[in-house]
Amino acid sequence: MSLTIKTIDVSNHPEFDGHQQVIRAEDPSIGFLSFIGVHDTTIGPALGGCRFWTRYDSEDDALTDVMRLSRGMTYKNALAQLPLGGGKAVIVGAEGAERPTDEHLRALGQAVESLKGTYITAEDVGMSVAFMQIINEVTDHVTGLPQNDESVAGADPSPFTSYGTLRGVEAAVKVKLGKDSVEGVSVAIAGMGNVGMGLAKLLHARGAKLFVCDIRENKVQEAVEKFGATAIAIEDFMSADVDVLAPCALGGIINDETIDLIKAPIVAGAANNQLARPEHGKMLQDKGILYAPDYVINAGGVISIAMTGEKIETVNKRLDELKATLIDIFTISQQRNKPTAQVADEMAQTILEQAAKAKKPDAKVQAAQ
Ligand code: NAD
Repeated sequence: MSLTIKTIDVSNHPEFDGHQQVIRAEDPSIGFLSFIGVHDTTIGPALGGCRFWTRYDSEDDALTDVMRLSRGMTYKNALAQLPLGGGKAVIVGAEGAERPTDEHLRALGQAVESLKGTYITAEDVGMSVAFMQIINEVTDHVTGLPQNDESVAGADPSPFTSYGTLRGVEAAVKVKLGKDSVEGVSVAIAGMGNVGMGLAKLLHARGAKLFVCDIRENKVQEAVEKFGATAIAIEDFMSADVDVLAPCALGGIINDETIDLIKAPIVAGAANNQLARPEHGKMLQDKGILYAPDYVINAGGVISIAMTGEKIETVNKRLDELKATLIDIFTISQQRNKPTAQVADEMAQTILEQAAKAKKPDAKVQAAQ
């Protein structure tokens, strides 16, 4: 094993947004490459999941992902009123690999440990509770671990992300379609993974009509059998003639190529970084499409992690508040004619500025001393 962990200079990177620290960890002897981004720790240690992904086009593609995702976590945690900053990790998986090896997970653990608690890791795409246990062999700065009591939160965050996303879909349906429930509402979901499948279950139980796609055929089949969903081709997702598009796979799905395809009046799903660029938020607004800002609607998982050990019902009550938060964002967006994503960013920035001010000793008081 020859693990090297280096802080890299990202100040000239197009995605640089004052990131506090970005590290690159590599061990060629086991085919391990990872980036960890610590975006901001003004409010608390940077919490954000680790992603295992085998389809990065290049190293810079992975770095870009970690920089965008870590920034998103700062905003998500701030807006969710959690005492946490924002960070994220990615493991660059070999093409075709189904999971990181145990050695990769321990190497990631060492990289996390090197940050001495400024970054705390958890599950994200391609990771699991079992993987967190392996990382935990090397570092204590890991959450999303198994809990002894099944009635409490703190292990897999995905069911909470699904539940929060349901509340977000309900908020959007209320504001855009004037409906108090999702009964009879048609929803297309891309990505039938941990979150997407959970969301499908919750929507099905409430009478929504589902259209689903995934690169994994067996997952689509599972949703068809369990929830009476209709399978659609991945390339037909963006133009699906439905009430709600719920992206629950990867980011960048709303971009120059796809934006004109959208027929649905609502985009409300759990995927991180859905807008390829910030201006796509304005383009959605101009097209009259209501967009639920991703890091607001998908905050359920991180809230559940922050509430580790609390009863599931208590956490879900807290997640019910996401509906009101999103309705506020939608209302302010209409009143001020601003894209919903911009409204959310401004709300998060205000919270961050207040936290920074509260941290700094008052200049006048200092001068007087
Ligand atoms: P997951 O890996 O369990 O599921 C992702 C699914 O998307 C997989 O089934 C995969 O096959 C599918 N997929 C990949 N590319 C696709 C494509 N082009 N078209 C359709 N399907 C595709 O991941 P997850 O935990 O369910 O997370 C899904 C999204 O939600 C991610 O963007 C993640 O960052 C975000 N998110 C997850 C959580 C959480 O608690 N897990 C919290 C917040 C945000």
